[in-house]
Amino acid sequence: MTAPNNLSFRYRLEQQKPGRTAPGCITRGASVNEFPVSKGIAGVSMRLGPGGMREMHWHANAAEWAYVVSGYCRTTILHPEGAGMATRSETDTFGPGDVWYFPRGWGHSIQGIGPGECHFILIFDNGDFSEDHTFSVTDWISRTPPAVVAQSLNLGAHEVAKLPKGEVYFANGPAPDDRSFISTLRPEPELTSIHRYPLHAQQPRRVPGGGRQRTVTQKEFPISTSMSGSVLEIEPGAMRELHWHPQADEWQYYLEGSAEMAVFLAQGQVVVEQFEAGDVGYAPMGAGHYIRNTGSSLLKVLIGFNSGDYQSNDLSAWLSTNPLDVLATNFQVPDEIAAKFPHQREFFIPGRRT
Ligand code: MN
Ligand code: MN
Repeated sequence: MTAPNNLSFRYRLEQQKPGRTAPGCITRGASVNEFPVSKGIAGVSMRLGPGGMREMHWHANAAEWAYVVSGYCRTTILHPEGAGMATRSETDTFGPGDVWYFPRGWGHSIQGIGPGECHFILIFDNGDFSEDHTFSVTDWISRTPPAVVAQSLNLGAHEVAKLPKGEVYFANGPAPDDRSFISTLRPEPELTSIHRYPLHAQQPRRVPGGGRQRTVTQKEFPISTSMSGSVLEIEPGAMRELHWHPQADEWQYYLEGSAEMAVFLAQGQVVVEQFEAGDVGYAPMGAGHYIRNTGSSLLKVLIGFNSGDYQSNDLSAWLSTNPLDVLATNFQVPDEIAAKFPHQREFFIPGRRT
């Protein structure tokens, strides 16, 4: 079944042609321009080789929440004057399973530090996110009158003339020599720094035969006031049950495995989509949905929400807390059929139930 105007809730992000590239560096993005249903959240898959840098920049219309899929990187971020924090800037290193959050408008950079490529998923709390709303430092400086640049950077005119003539976007340089920080990232990282949250180190919620859930909200990660996120690991045949989020849109990046996800839009419309690793899905605020593992291996999904709080209404919680006669009347079945409905909140439902 298709949505109104044949809208799709799937976007095959990793199958798209790259956006910006440089040696070792690739970006692929999905905003409302490419993925029209994703009005509230945009995303980018970015890869940086050792020493590859996403240059110093900021986003005018979105905060940035990120998850490191593989490899290691280093970020820097400036805290604005008046933002109420003691430190004025932070440099952090990130490894697989780590999350970062940069508030809207804060200046930052990201650098691959090796060994190997660093792959991370950036999620923005605005579907209109784009390069048009992203401000790079070299773009700014290269268009500013040279005398002002000389005064600002403490350079002579001949030195200003050697600066980049336009936006660099991806810069390549040496990877940092000292990689001792990588060993400090594992196996027992500190649970939080201001901008880093090691999501993978969190004890997950486990449902035997169903899956594991790790979620980070502003409760665990105070800086992330406008976004939260989860990694779901769902066993073959199992599903994240039917549910909806009352106060957030949901943006999904399928990390591993195969899945079916369907979005309930009311008015008799349910759109069913099939997903593979590298695909992106979207469930608008308030729209019912589920995610079911349709493959024979573990399904792993990264989810970003455009709210600092995580809230969900799960069907099992709703059914299990209503009086039996309400269920029987509502579904027009005898009491003994309604009595089979779930008796507790499930969250994950295993593939075979006895
Ligand atoms: Mn950014
Ligand atoms: Mn959901």
